Amino acid sequence: MMTLSPKEDAVSRGWKDLSSLLVTAGRHKHSVSEKGAFVNDPLHRGSTVIYPSVAAMRNTKGKEYEHHTLYGAMGSPNQHELEKVIALIEGGSHSQIVSSGLTACTVPLLAFLSAGDHCLLIDSIYGPTKRFSEKVMKKFGVEISYYPADISVDEIENYIQRNTKVIFTESPGSHTFEIQDIRALSRLAHQHHIKLFLDNTWGIGVFKPFEHGVDVSIQALTKYGNGHSDLVLGAITVNKDEDWYLLRDTSIALGEVAGADVCWLTLRGLRTLGARLEKQSISALKIAQWCQEQPEIERVLHPALPSCYGHELWKRDFTGASSVFTLVFKQFITTQQVIDMIEKLNLFSIGASWGGYESLVLLTDGEIYRNFSNKLLTGSACRLHIGLENPEDLIADLNHSFTTIWRS
Ligand SMILES: *Cc1c(COP(=O)(O)O)cnc(C)c1O
Repeated sequence: MMTLSPKEDAVSRGWKDLSSLLVTAGRHKHSVSEKGAFVNDPLHRGSTVIYPSVAAMRNTKGKEYEHHTLYGAMGSPNQHELEKVIALIEGGSHSQIVSSGLTACTVPLLAFLSAGDHCLLIDSIYGPTKRFSEKVMKKFGVEISYYPADISVDEIENYIQRNTKVIFTESPGSHTFEIQDIRALSRLAHQHHIKLFLDNTWGIGVFKPFEHGVDVSIQALTKYGNGHSDLVLGAITVNKDEDWYLLRDTSIALGEVAGADVCWLTLRGLRTLGARLEKQSISALKIAQWCQEQPEIERVLHPALPSCYGHELWKRDFTGASSVFTLVFKQFITTQQVIDMIEKLNLFSIGASWGGYESLVLLTDGEIYRNFSNKLLTGSACRLHIGLENPEDLIADLNHSFTTIWRS
C-alpha cells in the first residue's frame, strides 16, 4: 500500500470513496441474461420511436420526467443512463444532460428567471456565464449584478434586492479559486426565497452540493467527467420534483439535447474518473507546493494551500481537490517573461479548458474580467492544469523553464 501524507490524503480521499460507485453506477450488471452481454450498454442512435399500438403511444404522456425514450430530441437511452450516473455523483434526485457546460449554466437561468427578476452572480463566475447574463438575460428584462468573491455571507446579504430570485455562485471561483461558504449562503438564499445555483465543475465528486443546501448544481462534463478532451457536454442536477419538472420542461422547450455518441463516450470516461483524479490531485498538490517555494512566485491559488481564499472552508467541506490552479508571479516579473517561460515548457501544452489527461498552461493576463478589484491578482499570472504525466517530469520541465528565463 502506498502511504499518503495527511495533505495528499486530503486532496484525494473523495476519489477513493467514489471509485466502486463509478464502476457500477447505471450498469445492468445484475440483469444480464443467460446468453451474456457486453460490459457496456450499446450505443442507441435515433429520432423516431415506434410503438405496437396507438394506445401504447398515448400511454407515454407525462413519461418525459421518467427517463423514457420518447423522441430523439428528448434524449436517448445513453443520455438517460448518463443522467442517472451524474445524479448519483452529485447526490441529487434528477439530472438533465445538455449539449455543453455553458448550456448547463444558461438553461437553468432561462428556466428559473422571468422579466423583472434579479440574478446575483459571484464576480469569479465562469466568464461565458457572465457574458450570457449580460448579453441575453438583460435583453429579456432580467436584472444582473455581482458580488465580490472575497466577502462574508453577511456582507453578501447587502447585495440582495427585493426582486432577487437566483444567486449563482461558483466555488472555487474560475481562475482565482476563492472557496465559498455554501452552507451559510444557501441558508441566506432560502430565507429570502431565492434559489442557489452552484457551478460545481471543479468539485465533481468531492463536494456534495445538496448536502449544503444548493438548489441547482452544474457540471461541465467536458472537463474531468469525460476527461479525454474529445467532446463538450454539460449536466444540471436538482433535488426537488418541482425544480426537476421546470428544468426538464425548459430543456425540451429549447430543443436542448446531447448526442448519444457523446453521452456514451462520457460514460466511458466516468468509469475512470476516480483513478484519474486520485493521481492528478496528488500530482497537482506536489507541483503547487514546488511552485510555492520558487522565488519568482508571489502566491499559488490552490484550495489545498493556505494562500488560497477560503482554505479553511475547503478543509471543512471538500473530500478532495482537482488538478487545476493558478500561479501569481512577483510584481517584478513581466508578462513577456511569463510568456517566454510558458513557451519553453515541453510537457505542458498551451491551451484553455482543463480536466483531460494532458497537462496544460494558460496565460491569464488580460483574460480575467472582474467587476471588483481582486486582491489576489497582484502580478502576472498563469493557470496550470496537471494531467496524468509523472509529476517529477512536470516539475523538471517547470524547473528547466524557470532556470532558463530567470536564473541564467
Ligand atoms: C469549462 C467550464 C464551463 C463550460 O463548459 P463547456 O463545456 O466548455 O461549455 C462551465 N463552467 C466552468 C467552471 C468551466 O470551467
